[in-house]
Amino acid sequence: MELRKDPITRSWVITGDDPGDPAPRPDAPCRFCADAAPPLQEIARTPNSPGASWSARSVVHPKPLYHIEGEPGRRGDGLYDCMHSVGAHEVLVENRSHDRHLWNAGDEEIAHFLRLAAERILDLKRDPRIKYVSFFKDYGKNAGQEFNHPTSQITATMFVPRRVLYELRAGREYFVSKERCVFCDIIQQEERQALRVIEARGDYLALCPYAPRVPYETWIMPRDHDASFERTGLNKPGLRTNLAALLRRTLQRIRSVSEDFHLALHTSPSSLHPSKNLGYWKTIDDDYHWHIEILPVVASKARSYTFKEVYYSPVSSETAVKQLREAKIEG
Ligand SMILES: [Zn+2]
Ligand SMILES: [Zn+2]
Ligand SMILES: [Zn+2]
Repeated sequence: MELRKDPITRSWVITGDDPGDPAPRPDAPCRFCADAAPPLQEIARTPNSPGASWSARSVVHPKPLYHIEGEPGRRGDGLYDCMHSVGAHEVLVENRSHDRHLWNAGDEEIAHFLRLAAERILDLKRDPRIKYVSFFKDYGKNAGQEFNHPTSQITATMFVPRRVLYELRAGREYFVSKERCVFCDIIQQEERQALRVIEARGDYLALCPYAPRVPYETWIMPRDHDASFERTGLNKPGLRTNLAALLRRTLQRIRSVSEDFHLALHTSPSSLHPSKNLGYWKTIDDDYHWHIEILPVVASKARSYTFKEVYYSPVSSETAVKQLREAKIEG
């Protein structure tokens, strides 16, 4: 597999002829459970105190898309660009139990997991080759879920993914003309209008965006400006517990409309990599604002996915928010 850049949109894709894997036996034991054998290649665990059993841990992805060894070998082929898929690919095991998910685990457990995610992002950003660390979760058959155990994934890449790049550029342009963060302005307006806010919890807000890409799309954002999730996630334990509770409650709401969803964390890129042609690095702490995006896969509204050129979302956020606010929440 290699990385190729679309010369028009400038987005990178992983492509090649993958022979695929034989389907796992249905009775095969889960390899992410606490006592699974053979042991996985562990990278980090939390809590990290000696003798304590782990609550969340990070392991090398059994079939990584990106490999830590080697050089990127950036090269051109006429007008095209390609490189080897150098980077990192980890599985974050959210819980040692097979059935404790981010929507039914305890807030302490979820907070441990968020801390681990923050630590892994920070650690991977120390590699000067890495430009961006993505954290994401695909849950459910229609969302491309990979493992049965409660897991998320992290990839560290030598490029910034396209959607984040759009956001970074737009955030910078807004900042240049207004000297304000566009995300902070969105939060202020949403709180004032109270049309699309699902729930506020301490310093965090869950809301349906004004222009959703899919029905019930939901964002979780810190109300106070911060470009980097890993900074918040590591320095402020009280905040982490609030975020854990809001994430848990929001996923319960999402699950009242759809089993399947995609979740992605958007945080600032690595600032070790000041790139001249991406001039956003100087103001990035002021113009970017981390957030979590949750995109449910609503099977009955599947038509929306055939309109790839323009997003078609047949439930307005003003309607979605009423339904999500009223969803039955435990805890
Ligand atoms: Zn398991
Ligand atoms: Zn902001
Ligand atoms: Zn985003």
